[in-house]
Amino acid sequence: MDSLEKFATEKLAELEAQHLRRWLVETDRTEDAIAIRNGKRLISFCCNDYLNLSQHPEVKQAVIAATQRFGAGAGASRLVSGNHSLYGELEAALARLKGTEAACVFGSGYLANLGIIPALVGSGDLILADALSHACLLAGGRLSGAQTLIFRHNDMAHLAELLRIHRKTYRHCLILTDGVFSMDGDLAPVRELAEIAHACDAWLMTDDAHGIGVLGDGRGSSFADGGKADVPLQMGTLSKAVGVYGGYICASHAVIDLIRTRARTLIYSTGLPPGVAAAAIASLEIIARGPQLRAAPLHKARRFTRAMNLPDAQSPIVPLIIGDAARALALSTMLEEAGFLVTAIRPPTVPDGTARLRFTFTAAHQDADIDRLASTLQMAGLT
Ligand SMILES: *Cc1c(COP(=O)(O)O)cnc(C)c1O
Repeated sequence: MDSLEKFATEKLAELEAQHLRRWLVETDRTEDAIAIRNGKRLISFCCNDYLNLSQHPEVKQAVIAATQRFGAGAGASRLVSGNHSLYGELEAALARLKGTEAACVFGSGYLANLGIIPALVGSGDLILADALSHACLLAGGRLSGAQTLIFRHNDMAHLAELLRIHRKTYRHCLILTDGVFSMDGDLAPVRELAEIAHACDAWLMTDDAHGIGVLGDGRGSSFADGGKADVPLQMGTLSKAVGVYGGYICASHAVIDLIRTRARTLIYSTGLPPGVAAAAIASLEIIARGPQLRAAPLHKARRFTRAMNLPDAQSPIVPLIIGDAARALALSTMLEEAGFLVTAIRPPTVPDGTARLRFTFTAAHQDADIDRLASTLQMAGLT
């Protein structure tokens, strides 16, 4: 066996022994929260399509119409000839929603973070990141060459202490956090973060992948408490509640122009297909006109947390920490047998020893299904 084959085979065996090997399982999604897996119809509680907009007739029609009219792909980077006119419309809608001067759309949320962070900071600068920040925020930080320090999850005293000790040694400072933590469902104290950042001349960037469409009247985590936190860099994705694909950042004109000029994942990657941009515009319109739709995922999540005697959900994401990866996998199989799709989330996606079931709630979930999910878990000894 050559060394590449040997490396791959041995590495897989090692991961399998730790219950950390991963598999792609074919899953077809049909209407609302239904997934078809191994020929079986399951109610999915692990999809980020919080408003079920990926299945919405108007959104699907927007993809079809724009594709018929403009073609299937963008054909080039936006900086060359791929900057379709639909992009401007989509960016204007995002800026309006987030209350900023401008916005810039990327190929995905992951690509956005890999592009934005190195465009803003580099060697000689400091990044302070929440310990539970999404992998792509940390990857963007690493790519930037800035010094990255981690503060304990949502611990503002720790952040302030790190700033007091280290801020003066560096030119610029960027604070990174999820607005809604993707694997825990709790919220960052965005208003407090904004105040701390302001006091230390640090720039606050929130990754609001799970906030747009479902929190703060659909405007995201900066608006979750009813006001508007002063967050100069609001990043997010179009692939969750918006139901389509793509990443974005909302900021001032000057910051967006700099990102358009410098973000390598924008410059050296092809623009989103026109159909995707058109679908995202259609979704944002549905979000804008649907206060009940926007509020529904959080209500459903709270129905579940109440049934499970857990603290009230703060977002549509509710984790049940199991600890052991093998046990989390076994519980996921048990739920599948009961008709529910809930994937086990294991390290390194979450810290060692905190493997979990991660439940996500969407507007289309039926109350009776949520109640049956909770009673199934309770019968398995989880309360
Ligand atoms: C899903 C997610 C991303 C990545 O977004 P994609 O558009 O799927 O690439 C980034 N950040 C957070 C917090 C996420 O949950």
